[in-house]
Amino acid sequence: MKEKIAYLKGLIDGLGIADDANGRVIRAIVECIDAMAEEIEAESDRSDNIECDVAELKEDVDDLNMAMDFIFDYDDDEDDDEDDDEDEDEDEDENWEDDFSCFTCPNCGESVMLDDDMVEDSPICPNCNSPIFDKSAE
Ligand SMILES: [Zn+2]
Repeated sequence: MKEKIAYLKGLIDGLGIADDANGRVIRAIVECIDAMAEEIEAESDRSDNIECDVAELKEDVDDLNMAMDFIFDYDDDEDDDEDDDEDEDEDEDENWEDDFSCFTCPNCGESVMLDDDMVEDSPICPNCNSPIFDKSAE
């Protein structure tokens, strides 16, 4: 770009363009192109900086995504009654989890997932086959 402008300027000097109307127009055009070239050069310097910023932003976004993953995982486990979730596709899965509760077997300490119906129905621990709710203690 700069070389082409220098060539143009050299042409003008070499050809000895007269200082008439046409000559002045041509010089004005070349000066204009020269100014544009400097503008573009400054702009491309700024673009380099922008690329740096974008790289840094990308890292920030990655960090944010990890934070978001953590937050949403947390929500799935702890925040069962959040109304916003009802519009989402995972809704069915979360409802399935809602029907189950986690109990600890008093005999072997195994964690057992039971839905409401099973809790009513004297469930047996799948690990040690002992009743999870010891009716005799009541
Ligand atoms: Zn057990």
